[in-house]
Amino acid sequence: MKHQNRGFTLIELSIVMAIIALLVAVVVPNWVAEVEISKKNICLANVRVLQGLLDLAQQDSQASHTPIDITNLSYDGIAGIVCPNYLAHMPACPAGGANYYTDNNGDVICSFHR
Ligand SMILES: [Zn+2]
Repeated sequence: MKHQNRGFTLIELSIVMAIIALLVAVVVPNWVAEVEISKKNICLANVRVLQGLLDLAQQDSQASHTPIDITNLSYDGIAGIVCPNYLAHMPACPAGGANYYTDNNGDVICSFHR
């Protein structure tokens, strides 16, 4: 019996490549969307931490009769209040960098995710 050592045909290779392309087309958009959702969740966690620490700093300042204003703070303004005593370093939004601020009510907002 003669043993034939032949490679794959062009049609076989085309079918395999089409299946791989189909799988990539299905998986990649879902993966990208999940990464964006994860970044948004990290940002939301950062906002909650910063809000809690600003509220705590405000309460502490009222207790020591030197009240601080937490409205309309920039990123550096927030850092100046929370970093030395309450937090080792300021978090940054994973999607947009250092862009947290507080509004007229003292609520922490990410300018990228709002
Ligand atoms: Zn953000």
